[in-house]
Amino acid sequence: MFNKLLIANRGEIALRIMRACKELGIQTVAAHSTADADAMHVRLADESVCIGPPPARDSYLKIAEILAACEITGADAVHPGYGFLSENARFSEILDAHNITFVGPTANHISIMGDKITAKQTAERLGIPVVPGSKGAIKNIIDAKKVAAEIGYPVLVKAASGGGGRGMKVAMTEADLPEAVSTAKAEAKAAFGDDALYLEKYLITPRHIEIQVFGDGKGNAIHLGERDCSLQRRHQKVWEEALSPTLNEDERQKIGKICADAIAELSYSGAGTVEFLYENGEFYFIEMNTRLQVEHPVTEAVTGIDLVHEQLRIASGGSLSVSQEEMKFTGHAIECRINAEHPATFTPSPGKILQYHPPGGFGVRVDSGVYQGYSIPPFYDSLIGKLIVHGRNRTDCMMRLRRALDEFVIDGVETTIPLFHDLLGERDIQDGNYDIHWLENYLDQTKS
Ligand code: ADP
Repeated sequence: MFNKLLIANRGEIALRIMRACKELGIQTVAAHSTADADAMHVRLADESVCIGPPPARDSYLKIAEILAACEITGADAVHPGYGFLSENARFSEILDAHNITFVGPTANHISIMGDKITAKQTAERLGIPVVPGSKGAIKNIIDAKKVAAEIGYPVLVKAASGGGGRGMKVAMTEADLPEAVSTAKAEAKAAFGDDALYLEKYLITPRHIEIQVFGDGKGNAIHLGERDCSLQRRHQKVWEEALSPTLNEDERQKIGKICADAIAELSYSGAGTVEFLYENGEFYFIEMNTRLQVEHPVTEAVTGIDLVHEQLRIASGGSLSVSQEEMKFTGHAIECRINAEHPATFTPSPGKILQYHPPGGFGVRVDSGVYQGYSIPPFYDSLIGKLIVHGRNRTDCMMRLRRALDEFVIDGVETTIPLFHDLLGERDIQDGNYDIHWLENYLDQTKS
């Protein structure tokens, strides 16, 4: 195992990683921006190094500064968390060249999956069902029209380097296509510096179901079941569940095996998530994330496996702690993303937390980096915590979630807690009857 690990991230995930390190007896280094000098994980770390000013491009994305922080402190591993440099192949390569372990897959696997076109082609080759679409990047509008006519409208124009729901435009008919292509192209160029686009059939009522996988880098792999992340706003997940209210055990084992076999074939190392849209009993691959996901705690709740422990064990050359046969799923878990945002308009609400009282009790987990008196800086995303609730079954879980939301007090800033209260009152949510458009439609209706 490692002696000292540097956490190249911030907020709740930095603390989450630190907790796992402490349990395993690994020393921790918090690499932080000036805006995070007072953050909880910085206070709790064994050592901390300031790596730059608040903007992420000048701190959390600065490879040279992070490398220098490793050298100064003698860290032998780096955990990138999610976002920032977590899916940056060059970062992984540079660390490797300096004999520092990147807690994640190889640079080659990050690159393959980082480009969505290559990822889709790889998935298809490995026997994973994919969304019908263009074979590769579209060359021009004439080519796009030809491909769209073949797959049938509506189509979705997507950026090869896309992420965070950006660079994605729907064309309902051929008349919409030129504008969808030009806006997606401009958005992709601005956000990712790469304007390569591809086309996909736009599915009308799918659910977003993703499979958690782990590989040991030596050709062994397992799946840890699925998460249902269909409740989304602007393609961003808001509420996640494990397991999915719609899949049966047969479907679960079948798609899980396909994913585990695929990453075993790649000799993939570490945690990964294979994301699908699921409609009319069929799975359609959309992308693979080569890192820990925000919503990983719901999988931890139903499997009893600490995914960060598992990542650290594998990155240090160990093997998987559990076999597929030993993997059991217990009960049901739901995660609510608590953002410092107005619950109806979703405008960010940074500022000082005047009162903070997280819920507790049986089956309740709060992953957050905030505390009373903490000032949420305006420079980063608005996620300030996650409430994860586990119950014997979905009904039990929802009852406990209502109770936990009632207990949660955050004063001084607006949060999305009231939205979750409202959602629990909705029949469709109670029945698990929703697709990826449900939340947007609900928000539109409640606005008017
Ligand atoms: P990103 O990497 O930007 O998050 P994804 O490819 O993972 O992009 O897609 C994000 C979300 O966009 C999905 O969860 C789904 O809601 C929607 N989406 C993506 N592809 C399609 C599609 N072909 N049809 C309908 N919705 C889609």
